[in-house]
Amino acid sequence: MQLYEKQHIKIYNTLSGKKETFKPLNEGHVGMYVCGPTVYSNVHLGNVRTFMSFDMIFRYLKHLGYKVRFVRNITDAGHLENDADVGEDRIAKKARLEKIEPMEVVQRYTVDFHNTLNKFNFLPPSIEPTATGHIIEQIEIIKSIIDKGLGYEVNGSVYFDVLKYNETKPYGILSKRNVEDLIHNTRALDGQSDKKNPQDFALWKKAEPQHIMRWPSPWSDGFPGWHLECTAMSTKYLGENFDIHGGGMDLKFPHHECEIAQAEACNGSAPVNYWMHANMLIMNGKKMAKSTGNYILPNEIFSGENEHITKAYAPSVARFFMLQAHYRSILDFTNNGLLASEKGFYRLMDAINVIDDLKASESSTFNIAEWQQKCYDAINDDFNTPIVIANLFDAVKFINQIKEGKASISEADLKTLKDTINAFVFDILGLVNMTKTETGTDKLSGAVELLIQLRQDARANKDFAMSDKIRDDLAEAGIQLNDGKEGTTFTTN
Ligand SMILES: [Zn+2]
Repeated sequence: MQLYEKQHIKIYNTLSGKKETFKPLNEGHVGMYVCGPTVYSNVHLGNVRTFMSFDMIFRYLKHLGYKVRFVRNITDAGHLENDADVGEDRIAKKARLEKIEPMEVVQRYTVDFHNTLNKFNFLPPSIEPTATGHIIEQIEIIKSIIDKGLGYEVNGSVYFDVLKYNETKPYGILSKRNVEDLIHNTRALDGQSDKKNPQDFALWKKAEPQHIMRWPSPWSDGFPGWHLECTAMSTKYLGENFDIHGGGMDLKFPHHECEIAQAEACNGSAPVNYWMHANMLIMNGKKMAKSTGNYILPNEIFSGENEHITKAYAPSVARFFMLQAHYRSILDFTNNGLLASEKGFYRLMDAINVIDDLKASESSTFNIAEWQQKCYDAINDDFNTPIVIANLFDAVKFINQIKEGKASISEADLKTLKDTINAFVFDILGLVNMTKTETGTDKLSGAVELLIQLRQDARANKDFAMSDKIRDDLAEAGIQLNDGKEGTTFTTN
């Protein structure tokens, strides 16, 4: 029996505005698509938070025994500066400003994206497709939309006819907008546009002569519209209908609305059963923006080199901090919040690290089965990680009481306690076991944690020479790595 037969998840579905019991299309299998980054700058901390929510969800689905295909794309073409199909391609613009090839921009920031996510201990998605790798599929979808009479060509560009589509299917179903309001609220066309109506969106854009990111198509040498790539890649890898589609709240409209319209136009059915949206991250109560200085890069959290924080924080501490808020709540990133999370994080790790030394007794003074189900109930309730963490701290209290001889636990319960904590803390929340060193600074903890991660990566790639070198060099510097069942910890001389 798989765990998913016993534990039933409720997901808040943006489409219905309600929590619904999750039932995958194919028993035992889950298809999940999450809109990935546009790789033209360092990954934004707000995006890291969104991706972390879906990393946790991916981890939990796997924990329940589902076979999950998780697709998260890389947008490396087609995303213009402005959502209304105007402005320069973001990647092409960066390339122009830095006088490098667009693909150099893509490479640089894809590497940054992966490095940052690795530091936060993300699992890689099952497939990470790119927009430029799926131009043929996108052209095929455009052809099909034109065939259905829902797309039209003007001067080499192709647009989706929103008003025509809305005659049979409601446009705005996800973001709860209606076309009449959209017409009312959109600016009139400025005469430069080829669109029939301002609500229409680009499926294909003819490239201006100076635009280097271009591909041949039946309509012109050009490039696909941004919304199309997600329809092409989700359909290709997950099918015309799949279980979960996620992304940040800001993508609800127009991006996800357009995805629904394209897929409906092409296949005649709703593409996604559960639409999930993660809320935004703000800093010190205000919108995070480079232009106002209210801004921090993920790497600056680990180095401490940013005026908004007083010290460096280990990646797992930052991860713990983010998961202490529910994914649908706004998260306020503050130094005080991080300090409190850091304290809690080490209290949790200290308790975990004494479990093996606890002595079992005849009976337990704490109902472990009930506690375990409370942890599951919390995560089953639309992935409520703050409640999960509150339950974990109940266990911490209990562990400390056993240690002090004020409570007792049976052999079997001790095993359940240990297994459940390991599952929730490491497998599902994705934290890394760390102890606060007596002599070391937090900067040191962050650096060693990073090296432990690099060593794990080296081992996974069977690069044992590198993994041994990391261990030996650290030993020479007075830092011992201790490999245990639950991961690697370290001690200093
Ligand atoms: Zn997308």
